[in-house]
Amino acid sequence: MKQGKIIRVAGPLVVASGCLGAKMYDMVRIGELGLIGEVIELREDLAFIQVYEDTTGIGPDEPVFLTGLPLSVELGPGLISSVFDGIQRPLDIIRSTEGDFVTRGVEVPPLDRKKKWEFVPLVKQGQEVKEGDFLGEVQETPLLKHKIMVPVGLSGKIAEIKKGKLLVEESIAKIQTGKEVKEVKMFQTWSIRRNREVHERLMPDEPLTTGQRVLDTLFPLAKGGTGCVPGPFGSGKTVVQHQLAKWSDAQIIVFVACGERGNEVADLLLSFPELEDPHTGRPLMERTVIIANTSNMPVAAREASIYTGMTIAEYFRDMGYSVALMADSSSRWAEALREISGRMEEMPGEEAYPAYLASRIAEFYERAGKVVCLGSDNRIGALSVMGAVSPPGGDLSDPVVQATLKVVKVFWALDDRLANMRHFPAINWLLSYSLYVENIKDYLNSQVAEEFIALRQDAMQLLEEESELQEIARLVGVESLSARDRLILESARSIREDFLHQNAFHPQDTYTSLRKQYLMLRTILHFHHSGMNALADGKSLEEILALEVREKISKMKFLPEEDPGILEIYMDIDSVFKGLTQMKETSEDNV
Ligand code: ADP
Repeated sequence: MKQGKIIRVAGPLVVASGCLGAKMYDMVRIGELGLIGEVIELREDLAFIQVYEDTTGIGPDEPVFLTGLPLSVELGPGLISSVFDGIQRPLDIIRSTEGDFVTRGVEVPPLDRKKKWEFVPLVKQGQEVKEGDFLGEVQETPLLKHKIMVPVGLSGKIAEIKKGKLLVEESIAKIQTGKEVKEVKMFQTWSIRRNREVHERLMPDEPLTTGQRVLDTLFPLAKGGTGCVPGPFGSGKTVVQHQLAKWSDAQIIVFVACGERGNEVADLLLSFPELEDPHTGRPLMERTVIIANTSNMPVAAREASIYTGMTIAEYFRDMGYSVALMADSSSRWAEALREISGRMEEMPGEEAYPAYLASRIAEFYERAGKVVCLGSDNRIGALSVMGAVSPPGGDLSDPVVQATLKVVKVFWALDDRLANMRHFPAINWLLSYSLYVENIKDYLNSQVAEEFIALRQDAMQLLEEESELQEIARLVGVESLSARDRLILESARSIREDFLHQNAFHPQDTYTSLRKQYLMLRTILHFHHSGMNALADGKSLEEILALEVREKISKMKFLPEEDPGILEIYMDIDSVFKGLTQMKETSEDNV
């Protein structure tokens, strides 16, 4: 192995001389301890290396070993249910062998080398295969079939294919490529800095349903889309993340806990294994991978963690799955970037973040997408990415938030004021937005109901009108508003309380199908428009607001999905309003 020599150490940054021939993003081992690092800049024979472990005690003249290989992750059976650090060291295994802290220079393979997996081949000897084709599958957990794919860049004829219980390192197939025979193992390695290849990128045109009404109906994310959520303390961010992990229409969840305080990450690690997959009752971890890097772990590994998570997520996407990656928080990741840039004495940009902050953030989110995967079957996979941002003091003008908002298409504005008012999920309907509505409009209108988007717009408009009317009411008092305006206020309140407000802990309310969301919203708006018509007919607002059907509307969320109850309420509205008109006629007759 080629060797260089340390000339300077500055925290997580090591500068070494004698590194001619090294390449960008090559992995290096530093000092006698063999700390893991990565080349992030080259100037003549000098290599600037970010070190993923604590550099205390490392000094000039110690050797630097150039591996000539890029910093990579291992992709294969054993990923699911694991908890890795930022450079994919398996924390659960290290803990059982090394204790609570990661020993420096420790070398533990990410995927268990001793575990045997039941490999079921999906190809036959003599069959032609190309990159991305499935060679076979492994039931990795009861919730997940792990497909073993022909590695990128390889194609040919199957010369041999095995079956049965095998280790990840054993050869499972031999592929004849021209004159050569290549062995394929159950796992492959992939550089974390390189996007995994795809056939074609598609426009995200289907919603990623989450069962959360405010998200699905008002601010939908598309499958393969990107979103961002700020999380002021106590705003219910954890509950939102758990709900997304449990209910979103994704088969795999990759959770990157990046740079948050140790106890918060510990909470996550304790709470996640307790979550249940609602469809099967099995532990959610059976379709989850966690990358954890706390704020007290080396800062450079935090920088790498989101790429490690992304590469793993792309790998499962390549199998044709819908994958959801959640990164919490990308602000802490950007701070790591800033720290290393500072050590390199680069020219600082806004708030001392490096000038390339925005392009790094964009590159990260651009790895999301709906794609045609490699492989002959043209299968489609989707990788949706949701990043949490935690700007200092909740200030949304912060450069990380601003750069993120330029690339993501959905913003879920979690708002601690709403949380204080116990309005959950505390997603502010006036500040949030989704730019996917146009893309998924056809899907919603054809798969759920033709008027879905129209209803959504109607509801949004009422909420906006409410906010304007509240301003006016604050100045002149509600009493001076017209009956029509007061009905608008009441209907908007009904949208907020009877529709947007959703209790994550109520067995019926925790998840709402798109169909039920539609029926609920349609009913609320039907009441509103019937009320408006009745007002125009000269009915009094008090009478309208006294209608008992309103009580039923407020309980719709607790009705079972399949129950005809919501439809009945809808029809009730027609009859009670008819009743009103008759009452009026009868009373006039009496006069
Ligand atoms: P954060 O992670 O932002 O500090 P949490 O997600 O832990 O906040 O939420 C704080 C509390 O708010 C929870 O313990 C819960 O009582 C309440 N809460 C948050 N979201 C919901 C929800 N969707 N339904 C009901 N209660 C909620």
